[in-house]
Amino acid sequence: MNSITNPTVIVGAGFTGLFTALHLRHQQFVQSIILIDAQSRFVFKPMLYEFLTGELPEDTVCPTYQELLTGSDITFEQDRVVGIDLKQKRIDLASGKNYTFSHLVLAVGSNQGYLGTTGAEEHAYPFRSREDVLGLKQQIQICLLKASQTTDEQKRRSLLTFAIVGAGPTGVEMAATLADLLPNWYAKQGGDIHEIRIVLLNHGKEILQGDVNASLKEIALHSFHTRTIPVELRMGVSVKAVSADQLEFQPVDSSTLETLSTHTTIWTAGTTVNPLLKSLAAQIPADHLDKHGLPLVTPTLQLLDFPSVFAAGDCADVQEHRQPALAQVAYQQGAAIAHNIIALHKGKPLQPAHVSLRGTLMKLGLGNGVANLFDKMQIGGKPGDLIRSATYLEMLPTPLHNFKATKEWIQEETFHRYHRLKVAEAIPKLVLSPTERRDRPLVKALAIVAPIAFLIATIIGLQTPPNEQIRPTQPNSTQPSSP
Ligand SMILES: Cc1cc2nc3c(=O)[nH]c(=O)nc-3n(C[C@H](O)[C@H](O)[C@H](O)COP(=O)(O)OP(=O)(O)OC[C@H]3O[C@@H](n4cnc5c(N)ncnc54)[C@H](O)[C@@H]3O)c2cc1C
Repeated sequence: MNSITNPTVIVGAGFTGLFTALHLRHQQFVQSIILIDAQSRFVFKPMLYEFLTGELPEDTVCPTYQELLTGSDITFEQDRVVGIDLKQKRIDLASGKNYTFSHLVLAVGSNQGYLGTTGAEEHAYPFRSREDVLGLKQQIQICLLKASQTTDEQKRRSLLTFAIVGAGPTGVEMAATLADLLPNWYAKQGGDIHEIRIVLLNHGKEILQGDVNASLKEIALHSFHTRTIPVELRMGVSVKAVSADQLEFQPVDSSTLETLSTHTTIWTAGTTVNPLLKSLAAQIPADHLDKHGLPLVTPTLQLLDFPSVFAAGDCADVQEHRQPALAQVAYQQGAAIAHNIIALHKGKPLQPAHVSLRGTLMKLGLGNGVANLFDKMQIGGKPGDLIRSATYLEMLPTPLHNFKATKEWIQEETFHRYHRLKVAEAIPKLVLSPTERRDRPLVKALAIVAPIAFLIATIIGLQTPPNEQIRPTQPNSTQPSSP
C-alpha cells in the first residue's frame, strides 16, 4: 500500500485526465492528486499530423508530463493501472503498487479497433500515439528510399502506394496531408512524384459520413483534387485483409475481391473499449453499460452505481446525452469533473457538465485547412489552416506551454516559412503543392495576417473561456505538498 492516504486518483492523463488534475489544482483542492498514465508524454492528438510532417517539434505536440506539471503539486506516476476494485476503492498498478482512493477519475480514452479485419492489427499502421507517428514516419521513409533505388517497376509502384482505411476525419486529414508531404520527401530523393498513389478506402459511400465534420465534405473533396498528388477514393468498399505488401477489399455491392499492392496501410477506422474498462464489466451491471461496453455516467459524470467514481472523454457515455469523441468535449468534461469533485468533497450540490462545441477544424494538406465556425461560416485554405493552428496552440495545457508553442508557431510563420519558400525557388527538385505555389506571393502578407486570424478566432469564441483556462499555481500557494 502506498503511503499517500485517500488521494484523488486520476487514471489516464489525456485531455480529460490532465485537465481534471490541472483544474483541481488551480481551484486549490486540498486533497493529494495522483495522476497516472502509462506514457511519459501528453499527446495532443489533433496535431499529430504536424509532428509527422515536421511542421511542429515533438516537444510541442507531445510535451512530457514532467514539463507540464512542474510546480503544480500534482503527483505524476508513469505506470499502467491493471485492476480496479470499485467497491473497495482500490487500484492496482502494473509495478505492484496500489492506492486506496477517495475519488477516482477514469480517463483512459479508447483504443484502436480493427473491425476484426484479418491481419490489420499486425500489418496496418494506426495513428493515435507518439510511437505510431514515429513508426509510420520510418515506414514511409523506408518505402520512399527503396522505391528511389529499385529498377523493378512493379515493386516501386507497390512501395509508392499508400492506403488509408477509414474516411472519417483522421483518414481525410491524413490523406490530404500525405498527398502534399510525400511528393516533397520523394522529390528530395530524386524520384518521380507522379508514381506516388494515395488511396483512401471507406466502407460508407461518402467521406465524413455521420461525423461532426460532415458539413466540410465538399471542401475536403475539393482539397483532395488540389493536392500535389490527387487523393484517389474507393468508397463503399469493405476491407477484408491486410498483409505486409497488399490490401484485399470488396465493393459492398459486389462479390469481387480486389487487391491493392501496398507496403503501407494506415488504419483509422473504428475504436475499441480500453481493456481496463472491459475488466470492470463484472462490477458494473450490464444495463449500466452502453451498446459498445462503455460505462454510462450521469450528467454530472459519475458512474451510476459509484458516485465517487467519475468517467468522461472517449471512455464513457453520458446517459441520454452521448457526446462525440472529441478533445474539445474531453477537456471541458475535465473541468466539470474537477468542479464536481470539489463540490462532493464539500458536501455541495453537483452540476451537470455543459459541453459546447465551438466549431470544428481540419487539416487538409500542408498549409491548408478549414475552420468551421459554429456551422455558420467556413474558412478554408491558408487562413483556415492559420485559424486551426492558432486555436489548437491556444488549447495546449498550460499557459507556459501555450505561450512557448504559440511563439514558436508565429516565428515559424513569420520568418521561416517565407525563408523556406525562397529556398524552394533555388532548389528545382523541391516540389510545392498547388496551394503553396498559389500562396507564395501571399505568404508574407499572411504571416502578418496570422495574429489577426488568431484574434478573430478568439473574438468569435473558439478560445477557451476564461473559466476553463488553467493558470499556473501561485508560487506562494498554501496547498499541502504531496509526500
Ligand atoms: C489523429 C487524431 C486526430 C484527432 N483530431 C481531433 C481534432 O482535431 N479535434 C478534436 O476535438 N478531437 C480530435 N481527436 C480526438 C481526441 O484526441 C480525443 O477525443 C481525445 O484525445 C479524448 O481524450 P481522453 O482524455 O478521453 O483520452 P486520451 O486523450 O486518449 O487519453 C487517454 C490516456 O489514458 C492513458 N491510459 C490508457 N489506459 C491506461 C491504463 N490502463 N493505465 C494508465 N494510463 C492509461 C493513455 O496513455 C492516454 O494518455 C483526434 C484523435 C486522433 C487519434
